[in-house]
Amino acid sequence: MCGIFGYVGPRTDAPKIVFEGLKRLEYRGYDSWGIAVKSDKSQVTSDKLVIEKHIGKIGDSKIDSSLITYHSSLALGHTRWATHGGVTVANAHPHLDCTGQIAVVHNGIVENFQELKKELKAKGHKFASETDTEVIAHSIEEEVKIKKEQESQRVRESEYVKNAVRRAFLKLSGLNAVVVMIDGQLIAAKTGSPLVLGFGRPACRQAGGEFFVSSDAAALLPHTHDVYFLEDGQIAQVTKKTIEVFTLSGNKVPIKIQRLNWKTSEVDLGKYKYFIEKEIYEQPEIISKIALNSIETQAFARLVNRAFGTFFVACGSASYAALCGTYLFSKVAKRHVNYSIGSEFNYLEDYIHKDTLVIPISQSGESIDVIEPVVRAKKKGAKIAAIINVLGSTLYREADFNLLLPAGPEKAVVATKSLTAMVATLIQIAYALVGKELTAKKILLSCAKNVQKILHGKELSKIKKLARFLKEKEHVYVIGRGLSYPTALEATLKLKETCYIHAEGLAGGELKHGPIALVDKNTPCIIFAPNDETYEAIISNAAEVKARGGYIIGIGPKNNEVFDFWIQTDDLAEATMIPQIVISQLLAYFIAIGKGLDPDKPRNLAKSVTVK
Ligand code: GLU
Repeated sequence: MCGIFGYVGPRTDAPKIVFEGLKRLEYRGYDSWGIAVKSDKSQVTSDKLVIEKHIGKIGDSKIDSSLITYHSSLALGHTRWATHGGVTVANAHPHLDCTGQIAVVHNGIVENFQELKKELKAKGHKFASETDTEVIAHSIEEEVKIKKEQESQRVRESEYVKNAVRRAFLKLSGLNAVVVMIDGQLIAAKTGSPLVLGFGRPACRQAGGEFFVSSDAAALLPHTHDVYFLEDGQIAQVTKKTIEVFTLSGNKVPIKIQRLNWKTSEVDLGKYKYFIEKEIYEQPEIISKIALNSIETQAFARLVNRAFGTFFVACGSASYAALCGTYLFSKVAKRHVNYSIGSEFNYLEDYIHKDTLVIPISQSGESIDVIEPVVRAKKKGAKIAAIINVLGSTLYREADFNLLLPAGPEKAVVATKSLTAMVATLIQIAYALVGKELTAKKILLSCAKNVQKILHGKELSKIKKLARFLKEKEHVYVIGRGLSYPTALEATLKLKETCYIHAEGLAGGELKHGPIALVDKNTPCIIFAPNDETYEAIISNAAEVKARGGYIIGIGPKNNEVFDFWIQTDDLAEATMIPQIVISQLLAYFIAIGKGLDPDKPRNLAKSVTVK
């Protein structure tokens, strides 16, 4: 959660660069934002940093904010997703020390902040916010003072500043990523949450350097594709001349620059109004890409075939992809796999051992609820084979084997293209497990075609019509059986998070065990009815709901008299669940638009959940 963006370089419009960088990161947190600038002496006479903070989304803010006009080659900003302290200007980052010369932005939770705050208050520090973050600024101030008194003159200025930050950072407990503006430079340190260093244009490198710090590599693309993913336990010192990386114990670390293979255009809206719309429309191309390249999935399947016990672990939409995986592996490859949502893994991990293969599935590769299980499983000797979308992310680095999804950067908070890419990949792996890669290729290519048809054909106007009807509803049921059960769970999540409709996803057979008591006249019930072994039973479930007055919306290849409304998909064997998912994405998107909601940034949420 939270977006961090910093710039150090030859350009004098650093505040504008950071402002634009934060806009690209806004999906990571959007309750408030702020920027700190080290301004030119001509504009500001004191050594104090210039700070501007606001409540609300940075996307809604004007570029003519006064700070943007400062000439500066050093700026640092943050978009917040509050954990400690309400959404107020005072609690927005950056936070300053008492001298106003140290600014801190932070992602994570300082678990021992109450204790540190007490100590710092006793030493006379004055606090301006309720956040846990502010203790970091005052702790650094304290360390700088102590160091100034204690260290001999032989210690270089730059070194003692870095050491002061390092020592202050080591006092924090919890998983934290921190960037500090101090003494004309940026210092970044982390024990959790992503921080990526960007190396600017070669011309600037010759002139000294141009460097960026960001919590997401995608936000760097307009400036550079050359990045270094800071690792947990590392600290980076970013000056106008160079970047140096050290361990938190003080040893220098060689920087291996990685080149991002994403296109710059992939992070822009292009012709679309919202990222969710753009990302929904990118799906046919991504599914085709997956269909046409099975080399990595074959390698992945070999790992699964060798493992003695396989465990999917994921959160949110990715957890429904993982649940699909359990059905797919069983149905297609006759293989049993275990499954757990990330935050529950710790209570199920007892039977993990050195021959277990743990498969984390994650868009960002940064979800703390998935990283923790992976770290625990590794301690038990298990092998990790990750399915993720972001190169260089924490999970990418933790895994023994990575299967990178070709979905490109996903910027809407709710998952769309990353989820269908996960499902398509799992279909491919399931078929690869039994040497039937060509069957997977065939059904995925047909699937891409069907999704394309839905996005542009007559079904689209039916989906819009249905969205107008559902917009007025408070509750929706979504039911499916077999592979369509996780699909139903995903559809309900889309409705909840994108358009705030209370939706319940159920295995069709479960209705009569309780939930059917809630069905009333005109209760909408979406039925996923693919042409598979679940068809007859799910139609019976639909009839049970209809008999109690429910309004039945069928989604599948065949119409049925029990349906009051029908949206057609092709019959694509296991891949039928992909158009089912796409239809629910479109429904959620159109309902959100109809309700006047921002479909890219749902309330209370943020992309990449890096806190527990
Ligand atoms: N815990 C900090 C706060 O509440 C940081 C939150 C964030 O990661 O945005 O301000």
